Amino acid sequence: MAFEGLADRLQKTIQKVKGKGKVTEADVKEMTREVRLALLEADVNFKVVKDFIKRVKERAIGQEVMDSLTPGQQVIKVVKEELSDLMGGEQSKIAVANKPPTVIMMVGLQGAGKTTTTGKLANLLRKKNNRNPMLVAADVYRPAAINQLETLGKQLDMPVFSLGTEANPVDIAKQAIDKAKEEHHDYVIIDTAGRLHVDEQLMDELQNIKEVTTPDEIFLVVDSMTGQDAVNVAESFDEQLDISGVVLTKLDGDTRGGAAISIKAVTGKPIKYAGMGEKLDELEAFHPERMASRILG
Ligand code: GDP
Repeated sequence: MAFEGLADRLQKTIQKVKGKGKVTEADVKEMTREVRLALLEADVNFKVVKDFIKRVKERAIGQEVMDSLTPGQQVIKVVKEELSDLMGGEQSKIAVANKPPTVIMMVGLQGAGKTTTTGKLANLLRKKNNRNPMLVAADVYRPAAINQLETLGKQLDMPVFSLGTEANPVDIAKQAIDKAKEEHHDYVIIDTAGRLHVDEQLMDELQNIKEVTTPDEIFLVVDSMTGQDAVNVAESFDEQLDISGVVLTKLDGDTRGGAAISIKAVTGKPIKYAGMGEKLDELEAFHPERMASRILG
């Protein structure tokens, strides 16, 4: 399970202060030292950990007194709130364009789960929000990617716009939006090309697609199993494209948690969804608060 090691360590650490009727400065220091090590071991960004510990210490040592909680419980509350804030605080909603269709551009490196997530997101929008999305196959470099999206479209009984591998991705995106307007689709989700690494050619193409489609959301799909790499990838995509949010995939695996905890703090962009498996219904809205509670028990 994801975060298992981190959850174990943090829960053991906070357990030690939980019942305390009096928490001394030395107790807080001891606890934050252990929390710091646990976060670093879970591959959380070094600077993120440093700032987090500083905030927890400040708040826990000079903490506001609340009658309903023991001092130990108050310290735990501080850790939980700060962890939730680190991951984005409140859950953020998906955009809705004033004039339909709402355009969502899916970007990311190959293998991160972009195509699968395109299908999952469409499925979620239809199920939860009663939307009528159209999918767009704009990854023309990998014929398999188009087939994969078409297969997902069939499984979902949802239209997939494609012009094959010969067309230009920018033209595909433009024509897809026209078609969506004609056919009254309220969401257009564009599956763009991925590469093994961030490169200039890819970014140029994505910037061109962004320019012609003026997307309401640009979601970067990253694999949570890749830890700090995922954070670095998010930083470069954000610099080039000004992404609006992140979808973290493979949180059903045994990821240590570093990416989930660092991405918002490093890039300033929220994690909007979490991939929890390979199936089309295994995508969930990401709730920082619930995630923090899950980690801290
Ligand atoms: P793309 O190259 O980024 O388009 O990646 P794909 O959508 O082809 O996904 C790559 C692999 O990751 C596929 O085998 C997917 O089934 C798998 N995958 C995607 N999302 C998840 C997830 O949330 N959990 C798990 N376990 N596997 C996933």
